[in-house]
Amino acid sequence: MRCYICGKTILIKRTIKTLFSFKPVFRCESCKRRYQVFPFKQVIPKENGLFYLYSLFMEDNSLNWQAFNDEVSNWFNEVLKISKKDDYIFWLDKIDFKLLEILDDVGKNIYILTKSSLDI
Ligand SMILES: [Zn+2]
Repeated sequence: MRCYICGKTILIKRTIKTLFSFKPVFRCESCKRRYQVFPFKQVIPKENGLFYLYSLFMEDNSLNWQAFNDEVSNWFNEVLKISKKDDYIFWLDKIDFKLLEILDDVGKNIYILTKSSLDI
């Protein structure tokens, strides 16, 4: 496997116990230390509920989303546990107030994951 950020080959040490198990790795150890995720949550009221804005980083960056597949899948699992029938879940590259205005009348609560947080 190759790291989605730096492109280096990722070597995984295997033993006889882990020989037939496979866990995909998307970032090398160096990139995991260098580009640590700082989950951030913002809650904004809307017409019939709340916007829950989650972001992996505080500031915008050009890192590949695929390098953070573990964090994204964990987020989806957590949101699926707490979301209700009329809630919506979005995974977006960027978020702005124009999009929030469009989504204001949609459904009840809306959960949105983006790479960087919304500047308020
Ligand atoms: Zn790397």
